[in-house]
Amino acid sequence: MGKVLIIGAGGVGTVVATKMAGLPEVFTEIMLASRTKSKCDVIAEKIGNNRVKTAQVDADNVPELVELIKSFGPDIVVNVALPYQDLHIMDACLETGVAYLDTANYEPLDEAKYEYKWQWAYHDKFKDAGITAILGCGFDPGVTSIYTAHAAKHHFDEIQYLDIVDCNGGDHGKAFATNFNPEINIREVTQKGKYWQDGKWVETEPHEIHKPLNYPNIGDRESYLIYHEELESLVKNFPTIKRARFWMTFGQEYLTHLRVIQNIGMAGIEPIMYEGKEIVPIQFLKAVLPDPGDLGENYTGETSIGCRIKGLKDGKEKTYYIYNNCSHQAAFEETGAQGVSYTTGVPATIGAMMYLQGLWKKAGVYNVEEFNPDPFMEKLNQLGLPWVEEHDIDLEL
Ligand code: NDP
Repeated sequence: MGKVLIIGAGGVGTVVATKMAGLPEVFTEIMLASRTKSKCDVIAEKIGNNRVKTAQVDADNVPELVELIKSFGPDIVVNVALPYQDLHIMDACLETGVAYLDTANYEPLDEAKYEYKWQWAYHDKFKDAGITAILGCGFDPGVTSIYTAHAAKHHFDEIQYLDIVDCNGGDHGKAFATNFNPEINIREVTQKGKYWQDGKWVETEPHEIHKPLNYPNIGDRESYLIYHEELESLVKNFPTIKRARFWMTFGQEYLTHLRVIQNIGMAGIEPIMYEGKEIVPIQFLKAVLPDPGDLGENYTGETSIGCRIKGLKDGKEKTYYIYNNCSHQAAFEETGAQGVSYTTGVPATIGAMMYLQGLWKKAGVYNVEEFNPDPFMEKLNQLGLPWVEEHDIDLEL
């Protein structure tokens, strides 16, 4: 059906390449390119049968990207490198007329700020060029946004209260490690909290608001209100939402380590001089922390991510909870990567499939909730992330 170029050979890239390789009727040709080609080669070799071609690319270098895209000729580029590369890859897609998909919004290197404004500013350029860009097609953002679109389409006349709840109930056995790129992860969880209430953003101190929530098959976990990027597009695309919040679980051990890391300056994103060389503390920290890609082998437990929604249906108040639980071990056995990479890589694969099948194709830059959720929801059940719905229950929130 189509050719795909995957950029980024980390945990998520591993899952995307593995899943796509298993769907030859959709992904006829696959290329995996990244900064370090040897990492692509290891993944391709494991998949076998010469299913995946590999290449070296610096995704911050637009001419280099353009050359690679022109030589391979993909129908879509799946960006699972880091958020810093988003705009460069979008520029290269515009120049070559190729569709674009990512899982995390652009973030400037020197400022930990999660806003869609930079990518949304490309809308008219993509529209005029007749190219599709699909933003935020991981789990959160991604599946949580599609869950919301599904709820709006099938279960509510008006969504009023949205709480996205993200629990990692897994145990990787390390004193401290992050489940995806440490630099991006630490930048995300140490920023101030923010939620939407009655038409405006309310800011909180980091981890100021928290409460225990009960997660299916996991139990009670302390959950912290943090800002997460899908809130921005969801309140825009579902304007009936009065309040939108995002909750993530953290263990005490993780928070203690995080506090120490911050207090000693290791989470800093400003360069400092060390022995005559400029280094960025958080990038140095990344180099000494466990590689998230190596956590899979002994990872036990499950993730549980979903949306708890309250609103109106046929004039009556209704509550609704939709979620997926994903086992780290099952993810590792299938793809060699842990659950967080799996829950991100599977939706990216399905998003690219939606595009190639012509089901999610419109010129411009769109967040995933702006497409028809139905075919995507069906594929989630078939490709390893089945969802569960509960109606008229106590949402705890
Ligand atoms: P990793 O750090 O494991 O992998 C990132 C990959 O990108 C590495 O292979 C890295 O290369 C490559 N890369 C970095 N910079 C460049 C560059 N300039 N040119 C080419 N390649 C580059 O990250 P993850 O796999 O954990 O995460 C991938 C993406 O998924 C991130 O953007 C993350 O924010 C997002 N994500 C989204 C989630 C969601 O639910 N929406 C959840 C989790 C992650 P090298 O190996 O040389 O370092």
